[in-house]
Amino acid sequence: MATPGPGLDPVSREVIVKIGLDSKANIIKADPEYFQISKSKNEEVRWVCDQDHEHPKDGPCFTVDFEKNDSPFYESQFSSAAPVSGLAKRNVLPGRKIYEYTVRIKGKPDLDPGGGVQQ
Ligand SMILES: [Zn+2]
Repeated sequence: MATPGPGLDPVSREVIVKIGLDSKANIIKADPEYFQISKSKNEEVRWVCDQDHEHPKDGPCFTVDFEKNDSPFYESQFSSAAPVSGLAKRNVLPGRKIYEYTVRIKGKPDLDPGGGVQQ
């Protein structure tokens, strides 16, 4: 990632989705469950680990896969080790389409949250 120049704040272009575990049910939780990124503002998603744990050293603690109805991004697989989505694809039109994705954490049932691309 490029180092930000003066006056640039890279954080403001990132939409954070926290991936954790629901403390009661012990199931995967995504917050927000539905992300929205703005194409005109060049926003990206960053999935962050919200688990209170030591990060496993033998792999990512969660994975994110856009495999149900396409990915709005140039890549379709992300994880705690590769957490930034990058920009929405040029040919993705802002609209109401919900891109479902699958979050996996070892030993837990999968979670299918979603996201969309706005103007
Ligand atoms: Zn973690």
